[in-house]
Amino acid sequence: MQKGRVIQSTGSWYHVDTGDEIIESRLPGRFRLDEKEVTNPIAVGDYVEVSMNDDSTGSIETIGDRENYITRQATHGKRGEQILVSNLDQACVVQSIKKPKLKEGFIDRFLVTCEAYEVRATIVLNKMDLAKSGGLKKAEELKQLYEDIGYTFITTSIENEESLEGLKQLLKEKTSAFIGPSGVGKTSLVNAIDPEYNLKVGDISDFSNKGKHTTTFAQLIPLSFGGYIADTPGIREFGLVNIEPWELSLFFPEMLEPRKNCKFNNCTHNHEPKCGVAEAFENGEIAASRYQSYLNMLDSL
Ligand code: GDP
Ligand code: ZN
Repeated sequence: MQKGRVIQSTGSWYHVDTGDEIIESRLPGRFRLDEKEVTNPIAVGDYVEVSMNDDSTGSIETIGDRENYITRQATHGKRGEQILVSNLDQACVVQSIKKPKLKEGFIDRFLVTCEAYEVRATIVLNKMDLAKSGGLKKAEELKQLYEDIGYTFITTSIENEESLEGLKQLLKEKTSAFIGPSGVGKTSLVNAIDPEYNLKVGDISDFSNKGKHTTTFAQLIPLSFGGYIADTPGIREFGLVNIEPWELSLFFPEMLEPRKNCKFNNCTHNHEPKCGVAEAFENGEIAASRYQSYLNMLDSL
């Protein structure tokens, strides 16, 4: 048996990375119908054990428990959810200080999604080379705000080597996803810290195109300095998952304590009397931008 990690799936074949080689593996039929709530029994990111066949392909024998996973609604009229990727160490929530304009609401929305998926989030504020004094001040304020809540916050620029080194240290030996709106520099950042990255993305896509079913499942792209990037359009744009209004504040870490003081168990913290969260906001313990993001998201649920 070989231990490895599924780094790509083409529908019927799974590419299992053992660290030394990539074994093209199949999944014995007995696994297929086991899990009902998800449409794919094995996901990119899963840790597996593989037995070797005579033709040097593999058969997946065991699947490790998943620490976390990101899903999307199954396509093609299938019911249930499809796992895009599992066992993520972190999601890097990327915004740019300008071009496109910084949107704090975006950061908060992505953070809520990360919390709901139980994926650690790191905030990356990019294009700092474009910042003037107002932008630098804003970046400082945001760093303070998000670090106080408990998130890691870094500023970057593809033109600043030192900042790229910081990003590299964050990604080293970890499995990370980059999420955020298009144009903020997600691709540029990864290419700046690993020039081979783009070539690998190309390689892997070409490979799967030769298969019968070209799927848009995630793939894990190895970083030359160790670690993986989970790469898929579905991840980059991942949105709000299904959350009930009364649950939303569970995904704002700084609201967890104050909400214990709410009179109602199912308080949504926008109109109810004796609300611990509204109180904490009035006392300045919850930032105005965060409370506003909370109310905006509540509206959209
Ligand atoms: P993505 O859609 O998030 O992957 O964004 P891209 O990586 O494609 O970058 C969008 C544009 O922003 C490109 O023209 C990049 O050259 C530019 N860009 C990315 N990072 C930086 C940066 O740190 N500073 C500046 N000035 N431009 C950047
Ligand atoms: Zn409340």
